[in-house]
Amino acid sequence: QAKKSGRNQFELYHNELHINDKQTLLLENALRKAIDCNELQLHYQPQMNTQTKQICGVEALIRWKHPEMGYVSPGKFIPIAEESGLIIPISDWVLRQACEDLKKLHLDYPHLKMSVNISSIYFQQADFMKRLQSTIEAANIHPRLFELELTESTIMPNAEQSIARLVKLKKFGLKIAIDDFGTGFSSLSYLHRFPIDILKIDQSFIKHLSSYEDDASIVTAIIKMAHNLRLQVIAEGVETEKQCKFLQKQGCDYVQGYYVSKPLPLAELYEFLETWNQC
Ligand code: C2E
Ligand code: MG
Ligand code: MG
Ligand code: MG
Repeated sequence: QAKKSGRNQFELYHNELHINDKQTLLLENALRKAIDCNELQLHYQPQMNTQTKQICGVEALIRWKHPEMGYVSPGKFIPIAEESGLIIPISDWVLRQACEDLKKLHLDYPHLKMSVNISSIYFQQADFMKRLQSTIEAANIHPRLFELELTESTIMPNAEQSIARLVKLKKFGLKIAIDDFGTGFSSLSYLHRFPIDILKIDQSFIKHLSSYEDDASIVTAIIKMAHNLRLQVIAEGVETEKQCKFLQKQGCDYVQGYYVSKPLPLAELYEFLETWNQC
């Protein structure tokens, strides 16, 4: 956990330090053209129910392939998009694309859910709710098939305002997940004041599950407390059978990670689902 928050702090510092840096400006200018030039894509990572072994949902993860630079990781360009305001049109695009793809998937997999990452900048826009609602309604998709992933750092600073916003999202029918759970500083009991449905245990805890007893204890405690608070739990970054078995034994509801599948382009997701459901 120390390592994770340390890294986040470094990234923040790093971004501030180099905000006028040549590479940042270069990326910002390139990113400005990315939507119109069709350089953005969504990949989808399956989420598996540990009891039924069925794929219940997918998480949309953005990919940017620049014609010369090749793939630029979201860890690199999302902060630049947030600093420059480009995160707004990019997030609009992500939602539209996710809706379009879910609509297709829905024909063959009517219960499949779609998780989308929401930047704090986007969440805090005055017209956030309107943008989201109109996109989902335009696509004619039931909101219950959508899950929004927010981090603790998105909802904590303005707790009262966030709660009001989340209540509206819930009324509309959306599911709310807390991403990277455990890397912030909020206690579960405090978090329970927020109308959320699911906790995503951060992958940093999963990584050392078998080598650090402390991480195993933390994971077990998160699952227990979350269930007592009537929240569901998903573990991210699950890479091995051993990790998956442990999580299943502890009652973790879902797992996501390379053990099940890496994030896939839509066409490959179809192939994956077809084979998976024949198992
Ligand atoms: P996240 O939402 O926590 O996503 C999980 C990250 O872990 C993804 O990295 C995913 O590819 C990676 N991952 C999945 N399974 C495994 C595994 O088994 N092992 C390891 N080592 N890694 C795994 P990615 O795609 O590079 O995304 C990084 C972050 O960028 C995301 O973290 C999310 O915060 C942000 N992001 C991605 N797509 C979007 C988007 O459409 N909008 C916004 N606002 N942020 C996004
Ligand atoms: Mg996420
Ligand atoms: Mg995460
Ligand atoms: Mg993350």
